[in-house]
Amino acid sequence: MVRIIAKNISKYFKKGRVIALDKINLTIENGERFGILGPSGAGKTTLMRIIAGLEVPSEGELYFDDKLVAKDGKLIVPPEDRRIGMVFQTWALYPNLTAYENIAFPLTNTKISKEEIRKRVEEIAKILDITHVLNHYPRELSGGQQQRVALARALVKNPSLLLLDEPFSNLDARMRDSARALVKEVQSRLGVTLLIVSHDPADIFAIADRVGVLVKGKLVQVGPPEEIYNKPISIEVASLIGEINEIEGKVTKEGIIIGSFKIPVNINTDKAIIGIRPEDIKISKEPIKEEEWILIGKGRVKVIGYQGGLFRITVSPLDSEEEIVTYLDHPIKAGEEILVYVKKGSIKIFT
Ligand code: ATP
Repeated sequence: MVRIIAKNISKYFKKGRVIALDKINLTIENGERFGILGPSGAGKTTLMRIIAGLEVPSEGELYFDDKLVAKDGKLIVPPEDRRIGMVFQTWALYPNLTAYENIAFPLTNTKISKEEIRKRVEEIAKILDITHVLNHYPRELSGGQQQRVALARALVKNPSLLLLDEPFSNLDARMRDSARALVKEVQSRLGVTLLIVSHDPADIFAIADRVGVLVKGKLVQVGPPEEIYNKPISIEVASLIGEINEIEGKVTKEGIIIGSFKIPVNINTDKAIIGIRPEDIKISKEPIKEEEWILIGKGRVKVIGYQGGLFRITVSPLDSEEEIVTYLDHPIKAGEEILVYVKKGSIKIFT
């Protein structure tokens, strides 16, 4: 286990014309599962490579526990001395090596004896439940077994830190679920500090106890997953995590007005963006009597589609082209007039 501390880390490419990371301050605690979420180009891979020692920060300091490992463009502790295990997108194994040889690979050409290597491979294979397939070649393994072998290879050196770079993006949905569960289980068994980076919030939320959101090289929000989800600091962060209706309208004393919709929010500025998640909107032909749903007005169904077992419905106010999205478990006709409700306390205000 190791504690990672980044102090004011910036990384520039192309003589400073590209700012990949901009003054990152971050502490990842001993044994913590930390996730970095960010869109493409945000700087995720760059940050991971700096932590791995494959890149040096242009400015700032990186510590592993109390030890300074890189500072202001200088590499102080090289990657091989950082006790890191890595898993990449592909989970790729060497096809001409057996599972055993794949796992042992990081230990070959080291001073470790053959006997010790065998002991370590067998130990980690036992933890990952792949002892019975150690003599198999990758092509003879199921997808799940291949993942376990790849994870065993990342862990065989008994790393203090496990780095996962978009580890699930090339897996199909079923494999992804099992890989997420496997990583989480093995991490808690071994207690290794874990850093995962992904653009997919589902990956991050499945694994991490704490999340840092990286946007254009800046760490804009750090907190537990539920805090990031429920209290995103900006509409950009909110939309990274999941679909959200972004609404800009005339602000009055009674709230925001968009055509026939009156959304009851208390805003003191004359300009604000509000965000409402699709699940916090309900449409109905009949009035809804439950107190937690607040009527915002009449609307008209514009488009319906089918997605993930639900009907995706686009609704507009009667006299405006603005659109909001919600989901229903049954179909409804386009053109139909309906009542639109918003869940109490669910509206996010960004001023
Ligand atoms: P993705 O999810 O697409 O992999 P990312 O969040 O991992 O993106 P990075 O790969 O870290 O982002 O890139 C951050 C920025 O730095 C991008 O603008 C990228 O073009 C730039 N960049 C990264 N590596 C280099 C390099 N070696 N030379 C020049 N620019 C680079």
